[in-house]
Amino acid sequence: MDVKKIVSQMTLEEKAGLCSGLDFWHTKSVERLGVPSVMVSDGPHGLRKQKDEIADHLGVNDSIKAVCFPTGCATAASFDRNLLSRLGAVLSEECQAEKLGVILGPAINIKRSPLCGRNFEYLSEDPYLAGELAASYTTAVQEKHVGVSLKHFAANNQEHRRMSSSSDVDERTLREIYLTPFEIAVKKAKPWTVMCSYNRINDVFSAENKWLLTDVLRKEWGFDGYVMTDWGAVVDRVKGLKAGLDLEMPGSDGVNDKKIVEAVKDKTLDEHILDQACERILEINARYLENVTSESTWDKAAHHQLSEQFAEECMVLLKNDNNILPLDTSMKVAFIGEFAEKPRFQGGGSSHINCTQITSALSVAAEYGDIKYARGFSIEDDEMSFVLMHEAVEAAKKAQVAVVFAGLPDSYESEGYDRTHMRLPECQNRLIEAVAAVNPNTIVVLHNGSPVEMPWIQSVRGVLEAYLSGQASGQAVVRILYGDVNPSGRLAETFPLKLEDNPSYLFFGGNKERTEYREGVFVGYRYYDKKKMDVLFPFGYGLSYTTFEYDNLLVSTDEADDTDTITVSVDVTNTGSRAGKEVVQLYVSDPESTEIRPLRELRGFEKIFLEPGEKKTVKFLLDKRAFAYYETKIHDWYVESGEFIIQIGRSSRDILLEKKVIVHSSVRLPVHYDMNSIFMDILSEEKGRVLLDEYMQSLITTFIPPEDSDNTSASAKEAISTDMSTAMTNYMPLRAIFSFSDGSSALAEKLQGVLDKLNDEQ
Ligand code: BGC
Repeated sequence: MDVKKIVSQMTLEEKAGLCSGLDFWHTKSVERLGVPSVMVSDGPHGLRKQKDEIADHLGVNDSIKAVCFPTGCATAASFDRNLLSRLGAVLSEECQAEKLGVILGPAINIKRSPLCGRNFEYLSEDPYLAGELAASYTTAVQEKHVGVSLKHFAANNQEHRRMSSSSDVDERTLREIYLTPFEIAVKKAKPWTVMCSYNRINDVFSAENKWLLTDVLRKEWGFDGYVMTDWGAVVDRVKGLKAGLDLEMPGSDGVNDKKIVEAVKDKTLDEHILDQACERILEINARYLENVTSESTWDKAAHHQLSEQFAEECMVLLKNDNNILPLDTSMKVAFIGEFAEKPRFQGGGSSHINCTQITSALSVAAEYGDIKYARGFSIEDDEMSFVLMHEAVEAAKKAQVAVVFAGLPDSYESEGYDRTHMRLPECQNRLIEAVAAVNPNTIVVLHNGSPVEMPWIQSVRGVLEAYLSGQASGQAVVRILYGDVNPSGRLAETFPLKLEDNPSYLFFGGNKERTEYREGVFVGYRYYDKKKMDVLFPFGYGLSYTTFEYDNLLVSTDEADDTDTITVSVDVTNTGSRAGKEVVQLYVSDPESTEIRPLRELRGFEKIFLEPGEKKTVKFLLDKRAFAYYETKIHDWYVESGEFIIQIGRSSRDILLEKKVIVHSSVRLPVHYDMNSIFMDILSEEKGRVLLDEYMQSLITTFIPPEDSDNTSASAKEAISTDMSTAMTNYMPLRAIFSFSDGSSALAEKLQGVLDKLNDEQ
């Protein structure tokens, strides 16, 4: 398709029209020029392809039958790039068969608070993990010539007032936490499209944010696809176009198209900007249209099986006291709780899939021996039912092991609104306590898209976090419970003990139209770890049925420049008797930073499979970003020269091996000294020490009473020592010389000369 030629032949009206959707799900065609329309669909963990006549963006009306794969909260817990690639590959196969040019995902906003209603779709509280996994998904989808839409760009971390609220985030925090996942995915995987978010960022709607959509996304990161809106996110269409927003979704019945036409006519919009947007849209459409495969079917049963395999990789074993798990088929077991019969495996809203089939734990129970079922509670209401509770307790009494299938009902978490607390329904908490009171071997399986409080944690022996793991999750749960599968998921988010512990707690949801991100870069484990707070389960945590040992941590150098790449390797051995997968995590800590930084940050992870007794060497490459923070003075990433610690661990709280490395910065921060600069800052540099130390020393002595003077009382001598005077002088500005010492205009001139010299040499 000769895109430039086509655009040059289009009328102004046709071009304006091309920049908005034909309907809910299609781009427009221009028949006279042979330009077909292309269909896009949600995403991210399965297809929600709707028929035109019943289209909506909230998952209200039915879509085609499709496979619901594990949702983002679950796939992130796999900590496995390969799994995200396999998911991307299978989704793109479905897209090709269903004639979809773009799948609307992955959704990669940071989990700032456990309360965000859409956390189940999002990946992590950690930007590196979210970005890496999103990149793998994106590459795999696009290998089959279907585009992704990386969403929701950016700082869309709550559902509350999502279409109007301003996320007020400082520059460093935006860069380090909220933009990084997008940056990684854009740079590594070149997504075909990006979906801008509904919200404002520091007052400017994402849909008309030139800094975001053009300066950062295109100019800095090299994005070369088109930007579409989230559904209905356009505010001022012309402003949006100028900012770098190409496609409005869905259409606005021609209203906004007309505004574009008028703006070009009255010369408030350069037609070239419109041409560029059209070219971008057609370019991406062409990538798909020129590579449509002829297959028109996909294997629903095979994809259901894949969904089950994926789910097995995602679930996180949180507690397994005295190895109560895995269970044996000879045991008498009670499955309690309605989720055993009707698992909750996906969330509400635009990602809601009309599933091809659902496998519940109960439906496969017969294959696993003597399993009795008691409903325990009703998913429909949160009311306590004494009848159901009684039945459950009786079933638990008769069993050797009681497995309670608990979780959040649909209404508790969904797109469109946030949770108000972090609790399970009270009837479920009470049920778990009641069951545990009669059966010491109680295990809880959780179905939730975001952390919950666990007031009963000490009363139960096992907890399996199943997350919302797709339509085959029931089978995956049972296979893990009975040891057909060795669990290998790790938490991609911290489980705090209680909601109030979360760093965003005081500010989340904001004050009417603004939400201030006052916790800054201290999101998730970056906060809990720095504050040494107890948490329920830390970031990166998860158990296995086998054991692993780590040794032989090697770092390629003790000292490097920030332009070098450092190689790190570590040996991991499966020391147990079962084959299993381990997630090896690499964190970097900057122990002597003058910038306020988290204690450690995830900079590498690998998931490996090991047979019993097998040893593998895991390698990591660390570049400048692994050591850098975002320095607002230079609006760029910066490594402060000095010592760093490379740490290998099983979670952010379980560091097993570490090594120091010195990294030198290749960048000098701009500094300007004047009479208000303090001694400590100037003397922190070699040149400053040489030029100004004598002035500092003389100032120090002016505060110390002479030792031998008879006029100095003992109490005056006690009042200030040399150390005290040095400390005080450190914080004094140069001009203090004139207030406390013998200043003169000659001295003033001399000092100014010293300052000029220092500044010139920067
Ligand atoms: C959601 C998007 C989704 C779109 C289309 C919006 O409400 O925020 O994630 O892709 O609808 O369904």
